[in-house]
Amino acid sequence: MKTNKSILTDTFGREHTYLRISLTERCNLRCSYCMPEEGIFLSPKSHIMTYNEVYTIAKTFVDKGVTKIRLTGGEPLIRKDIPIILKKLASLPVELTITTNAVLVDRFIATFKTCGIKNINLSLDTLDKKKFNHITRRNYFEKVFENIQLLVKNGFTVKINTVLIKGFNDNEIVDFIALTKDLPISIRFIEFMPFDGNNWNISKMVSYNEVMQQLSVFYSDERIEKLQDASNDTAKNYRIYGFKGTFAIISSVTSPFCDSCNRLRLTANGRLKNCLFSSTESDLLTLLRAGKSIEPIIEKAVNAKFKVRGGMDTLKKLQQPKLHSQNRSMITIGG
Ligand code: SF4
Repeated sequence: MKTNKSILTDTFGREHTYLRISLTERCNLRCSYCMPEEGIFLSPKSHIMTYNEVYTIAKTFVDKGVTKIRLTGGEPLIRKDIPIILKKLASLPVELTITTNAVLVDRFIATFKTCGIKNINLSLDTLDKKKFNHITRRNYFEKVFENIQLLVKNGFTVKINTVLIKGFNDNEIVDFIALTKDLPISIRFIEFMPFDGNNWNISKMVSYNEVMQQLSVFYSDERIEKLQDASNDTAKNYRIYGFKGTFAIISSVTSPFCDSCNRLRLTANGRLKNCLFSSTESDLLTLLRAGKSIEPIIEKAVNAKFKVRGGMDTLKKLQQPKLHSQNRSMITIGG
């Protein structure tokens, strides 16, 4: 029994070894379920962490037990100093990973390799060019698809995150799975979640059960293999027998996986979120800039973490819009 509790272990005994860092609130796409129609209030540049501040804060977490860092955004690759950030963080003893919308990854293949990045998560919600242009409000479908092939060809482990929305892409589930027949990638279907400004309604969400029902009808249960999920894994993993790739479902709404949560989030303006759904944040950046230790406020934030979904532990609570608006929009959290 560990005597001295790490500052990254919460009151439920969950050790937080995974830090997700949002590097920017900006993005080169305008996905409607992420970026509110009316746009968002962007923090002034002076409020955004510099690359040295990203490194210093990240190092504090690594010294306290973080072993994995994921870089997110907005779109992390649009930050001009991203090569410096990648090189600095690559000097830390962590698994460095990134989530990107893949529009710019072709420019970073060599940098990713130099920085030891092996796992890359991409966001892609449709295989239909028209729909892509509609939901992202940009015309980059071919570029994204080419870059997926390029990453696979260069030996990266590629996971594609797909937010399922009823009436939009729930008729493409089988098409996405078909990609895994010949491509060694993992398609991860994400239950649509409520965040400020994304007009979420549970009727728009495609649940874990609905996905599995569609697949058992199309492929039959005999052909669907349940794979071993890693500990702390947010996804339930499967493979169609004989396919090179796999698929998974992230069911934060219908069956949350908070018991084994090991994730903390740092926003681009240096605020610590102890949960994706938490409406409270701790300002690390102001303390750091004042030359003060950030460890006490990190410990306080971790100890204040709710057991489930930032306190929205029931579907009834999760469906209260006023709770959603107390949180940020997805684009400034970084998923
Ligand atoms: S909802 Fe919050 S507590 Fe649950 S898994 Fe996600 S980040 Fe962790």
